[in-house]
Amino acid sequence: MYGQYRQLLLVRAADDETHKKGQDGGFVGAMLIWLLQHDYIDAALTSFLEGDGTSWKAKPGIARTREEVLASSGSRYTYSANTLAIKEAAEAGLQRIALVGMSCQSSVLPVMWTRKAGKIGKPFLFNIGLLCSKTFDDAIFEELFLAKYGLKKEDMVKMNIKGAFQIWMRDGSFHEIDLKECHQWTREGCKMCPDFAAEHADISTGGIGEDNDWTLCVVRTELGEEVMNRMIKDGSVVARPAEADEKAMKLLRLLSVVSRRRWPDFAETSVKIGVPPPKKKADGTAPAAH
Ligand SMILES: Cc1cc2nc3c(=O)[nH]c(=O)nc-3n(C[C@H](O)[C@H](O)[C@H](O)COP(=O)(O)OP(=O)(O)OC[C@H]3O[C@@H](n4cnc5c(N)ncnc54)[C@H](O)[C@@H]3O)c2cc1C
Repeated sequence: MYGQYRQLLLVRAADDETHKKGQDGGFVGAMLIWLLQHDYIDAALTSFLEGDGTSWKAKPGIARTREEVLASSGSRYTYSANTLAIKEAAEAGLQRIALVGMSCQSSVLPVMWTRKAGKIGKPFLFNIGLLCSKTFDDAIFEELFLAKYGLKKEDMVKMNIKGAFQIWMRDGSFHEIDLKECHQWTREGCKMCPDFAAEHADISTGGIGEDNDWTLCVVRTELGEEVMNRMIKDGSVVARPAEADEKAMKLLRLLSVVSRRRWPDFAETSVKIGVPPPKKKADGTAPAAH
């Protein structure tokens, strides 16, 4: 249900700063730094925050150094079309690129390669995926977090989604907002997305492990596996089998199924084979779609 893979691992960056700045285990940051330091890439297309970060407005950009990679670490739950930074990379003459993005972005590369959209697809050498159920409209900051909870975005320091929308504030307070309340700010496109697990990436990454500070990695391609094995071998990351974390495995499957059910009937039918239908509620009606 979550696509093809060669390895399922829980991974964390060995370097403390990379780990701390990462959303989960800091694996994505560690991999980008490793690719830059080993001269595989000139830059990565990632997501930054506008200005000094207090606006929480995510924007695509390029990371060329360790410092830039770390400045772009962590997750924002509003949209950042990282692929758009290819223009900036091309203008800077950067030829070898890694992309970080959710499935709507990580599927772009294989589509370009298989449909032979030659020139524009050529610089992309590595494709790092982010597991994703949805992103929210930027209006959620004013219309929900501020209006109902009095939480100012300029005072927010970190956010995460783990069963609830979690927000850490500068004053040390921590807030959890029910995801049902957030639903009306879900971006329209996300409601149609059939791919939770970023199935076309070399390595897909998520934060559904039992421990918050490890990144769940679905290693899909030979290329992804080679980089992962070399990073483990040289001590850049610490890894352990993910299958031992039953809760994470269950959630990975469940969330992938929920998204895969949205695969349209008019498209290639094999994608939906074996996808279990939603369980009926006690009163016999089908549950509401998420
Ligand atoms: C919108 C969104 C929804 C997600 N939903 C889930 C989920 O439901 N379940 C789950 O297990 N994991 C989800 N993730 C993935 C998770 O939050 C982590 O990104 C992933 O586990 C990698 O963690 P890390 O510590 O290895 O990454 P880090 O080292 O922190 O690197 C994260 C990378 O993601 C990039 N990034 C941050 N925000 C965005 C954005 N909005 N758009 C594009 N790129 C961005 C950063 O620039 C950075 O390159 C989601 C991520 C995002 C951005």
